[in-house]
Amino acid sequence: MSTLIPPAANSDLGWQIEHTYAQLPATLFAASRPVPVRDPHVSILNHRLAERLGLNLAGATPETLATLFAGNQLPSNFQPIAQAYAGHQFGGFTMLGDGRAILLCEHRTPAGDLVDIQLKGAGRTKFSRGGDGRAALGPMLREYVISEAMVALGIPTTQSLAVVTTGEPVYRQLVRKGAILVRVAASHIRVGTFQYVAATRDQASLQLLADYAIQRHYPEIANTPDKYREFLRAVIDRQASLIAKWQAVGFIHGVMNTDNMAISGETIDYGPCAFMNSYDPGTVFSSIDHAGRYAYGNQPQIAIWNLARFAETLLPLFATDSDQAIAIATEILRESPAVFERHWLAAMRRKLGLQTQEADDLELLQSLLDWMQQTGADYTNTWRDLSMGVMPTGENYSEPAFAELYAQWQERLSRETEPRAAIYAAMQSVNPAYIPRNHRVEEALTAAEESDDLLPLQRLLEVLQHPFDEVAASAPYREPPPESECNYQTFCGT
Ligand code: AMP
Ligand code: MG
Repeated sequence: MSTLIPPAANSDLGWQIEHTYAQLPATLFAASRPVPVRDPHVSILNHRLAERLGLNLAGATPETLATLFAGNQLPSNFQPIAQAYAGHQFGGFTMLGDGRAILLCEHRTPAGDLVDIQLKGAGRTKFSRGGDGRAALGPMLREYVISEAMVALGIPTTQSLAVVTTGEPVYRQLVRKGAILVRVAASHIRVGTFQYVAATRDQASLQLLADYAIQRHYPEIANTPDKYREFLRAVIDRQASLIAKWQAVGFIHGVMNTDNMAISGETIDYGPCAFMNSYDPGTVFSSIDHAGRYAYGNQPQIAIWNLARFAETLLPLFATDSDQAIAIATEILRESPAVFERHWLAAMRRKLGLQTQEADDLELLQSLLDWMQQTGADYTNTWRDLSMGVMPTGENYSEPAFAELYAQWQERLSRETEPRAAIYAAMQSVNPAYIPRNHRVEEALTAAEESDDLLPLQRLLEVLQHPFDEVAASAPYREPPPESECNYQTFCGT
């Protein structure tokens, strides 16, 4: 977007700094400097991302990078801020804000995209409430590895540029090593950011925020006559597309609060997230999600619920008459289930190798999913096995019910125009062989946290970088967890 402050001159690393968010009304943020840490060290650097950002990390010493990414020493033209937001957390509304994150700056990439550069775990801010403003190494590496996996799977996500350790302990259930994650995002504007402004009943600020978000993420609608309605439609569409991609690979976000839903349509905030093993729509991993609110199968409905909260914040922009505004929002929201269904079916058809559409496709898909659920089949491996061009063999597959399903699907494929080889190649490009299996992630994080051994994590990252290209040496990474680890739980004490 156009800015009033010109980009800063190139510094050594190649920063192209802008501070557009800070031009919004001052209620939306607070100037906030990272609290320096005792002894910062780089744990992991994302060179691939740095290159895409046009940052020359190789030109700096590890010490310089550690000092920078810990927030101990920032370039003089950075104007760090903490952003205000609110959110429905497990359904209850709360005023929040960056309690431990600090937006260092926005950076213009060589491709012309504007991205946020944020430190997570950078110390207390005005919005910290009772928290310490810090983060532990394990959870920050976890965000790093899962977000990298998401990138490789082709799923919109915030990205991780680096993790640095702080040399300070953080006190959770256990004493853990402190760390800071450098997060790169299209922006950190959330549904909760709109809820925050709506709660202040400051309509001028609401409009400025909406215009800003439109400019930044949906510039194509900036000049449409009903741009706020189009904005709502566009955000619904992008969320529907995102959640369909999550469902397709069995990703469970785990804490889909409205403050964890980005207006850009990127996946944000990797807390208790995990990938499903055996197919079961009721799958929940988060230890605090007792009611299963954020279970795998609930994710589309929850997203739609969150989008209704988003629509409520926009009411004053739809019409001055509140009944009329509600009517407009209701009409748009009524379309969302169909939009979600359309994106989901499209994603699932691709998994099935279907390019054409037939009315019975949903039924075929549902029978396959039901079969997976009944037999406890591994979701990822079943799809991958189906993509290989021969009828899979092995325990579950020897059932007559599977043979029947397989025959039905083959019969359906015979009405596709593409030759089989092309169909299977397309399936192999959407049905991953490798996902970040929970037990593999745990194993890598434990080695990193407890023995300073980053090798298992590096190896895992290498495998996850190419989720669709199978190599014999990586076969162990396709294995579901042993039976004993099937009650896997993720914890929020990050
Ligand atoms: P999350 O569960 O990470 O989405 O965080 C929810 C809210 O709690 C956000 O406003 C965070 O900034 C805040 N928060 C989480 N952990 C901490 C912490 N250790 N110190 C301060 N605020 C935190
Ligand atoms: Mg959050």
